Amino acid sequence: MSKSVFIKTYGCQMNVYDSQRIGDVLAADGYTAVDGPDGADLVVLNTCHIREKAAEKVYSEVGRLKALKDARRAEGRTMIIAIAGCVGQAEGPEMMRRAPAIDLVLGPQTYHRLPALLARVEAAHAEGKPGRVLDTDFPADDKFDHLPGEATAPGPSAFLTVQEGCDKFCTFCVVPYTRGAEMSRPVAAVLAEAGRLAGLGAREITLLGQNVNAYHGARADGGSADLGELIHRVAEIDGIERIRYTTSHPRDMTASLIAAHRDVPQLMPYLHLPVQAGSDRILKAMNRSHSADDYRRIVDDLRAARPDIALSGDFIVGFPGETEADFEATLALVRDVTYAQAYSFKYSPRPGTPASVLADQVDEAEKSRRLAALQTLLDSQQQAFNDATVGRRFDVLIERPGRRPGQILGRSPYNQAVHVTLDDQTMSSYHALIGTVFPVTIEAGGPNSLSGRIAAPQWTAA
Ligand code: SAM
Ligand code: SF4
Repeated sequence: MSKSVFIKTYGCQMNVYDSQRIGDVLAADGYTAVDGPDGADLVVLNTCHIREKAAEKVYSEVGRLKALKDARRAEGRTMIIAIAGCVGQAEGPEMMRRAPAIDLVLGPQTYHRLPALLARVEAAHAEGKPGRVLDTDFPADDKFDHLPGEATAPGPSAFLTVQEGCDKFCTFCVVPYTRGAEMSRPVAAVLAEAGRLAGLGAREITLLGQNVNAYHGARADGGSADLGELIHRVAEIDGIERIRYTTSHPRDMTASLIAAHRDVPQLMPYLHLPVQAGSDRILKAMNRSHSADDYRRIVDDLRAARPDIALSGDFIVGFPGETEADFEATLALVRDVTYAQAYSFKYSPRPGTPASVLADQVDEAEKSRRLAALQTLLDSQQQAFNDATVGRRFDVLIERPGRRPGQILGRSPYNQAVHVTLDDQTMSSYHALIGTVFPVTIEAGGPNSLSGRIAAPQWTAA
């Protein structure tokens, strides 16, 4: 009898990709995906450890699941609760202690073993034992070599992990500890997966990695390809109309990658390039290995290669020892660069990281004040960027029906969400538009999205 699984994803796009692959592994093991935990035989929480609140959310969710699990047990049925991802990797034994309802904890590098791990849990349950299993190895064999093919269509926009792990050890960050050492998938494996995704209907591929631009994948001729070369190769695949990549580190923004922004028409004019801070003293304490001016120069080179490129970034305020003058330097960098979109966070001390034990931690209220000031500036830049697109006509990849009747949702080349209003006649056959790149005239810009109309009045469904 088919078993059901509900997978809930926290955190970054790499976790979204991992959850899809966990779904593929479980589909091959006879599981059917369901939309909620109610009635599920297995619940997988694919967790994120990057900031404190992320882990706390997982513990609250386990609390809610425990009630469902107890109710099922009263009916003589079981529900397995599995914790995957970075909280599992970092805090596996602690999670087992703190939340007895958890049956299984695994890390980001062992999810290809899920069927065997679940069999161990089930065998123990069948004998009336608790059967709790922890697997947070960094196995020598590569999980990608053991994953089955994609079980479901990815939709018009698909993620593809090409690089994992990090050797940079920024002093605030847990990723090198939870995701392990940096590795790149071979070029042939990436191209094969991109080809399969295109065959399943993907029109846009986002190449993923914790440090995606550190990519150095083995080529068949024994050499190695950098990300610029990989992008050229992915662009040759039939059906791939758009390419993006994330997340990049400024240090690995090579000339070849910057040139790809000029030379590959499928590479979208948008780049997420975290800088974290604008003060050289703080950048040094963060072990970022670049200065604020190095970052400004990279932005200049990118804009020379692709003048309309839209930039996004990550910022941390209140890193230990950050003074008002350091924070002002971050604001100055933001004013110089001008972002189309950005993520900003209060520094969160992560156990085991060097910055967490520094003496001069910044007061929580001060962190909140700086975050609010930074976000006010970033929001105004985002609104200005969105406003500047009003009246323009550009290609939008249509992804799915919108939330409001008469609307469909897509993405601009600059990664803005675009709500496209259709007339009644077009709406009746809107599904023919999903997965196509269509010209849209932008009529309004909101803080987080645009709205517009199809710029081809004669359009009819084929
Ligand atoms: N590898 C990418 C890079 O180097 O920029 C980003 C990785 S991390 C998953 C995403 C973002 O989370 C970081 O860019 C940083 O802004 C934020 N972050 C990481 N650790 C943090 C911490 N301890 N406190 C607050 N924000 C943090
Ligand atoms: Fe974390 Fe720094 Fe590595 Fe990015 S580069 S994943 S912030 S350690």
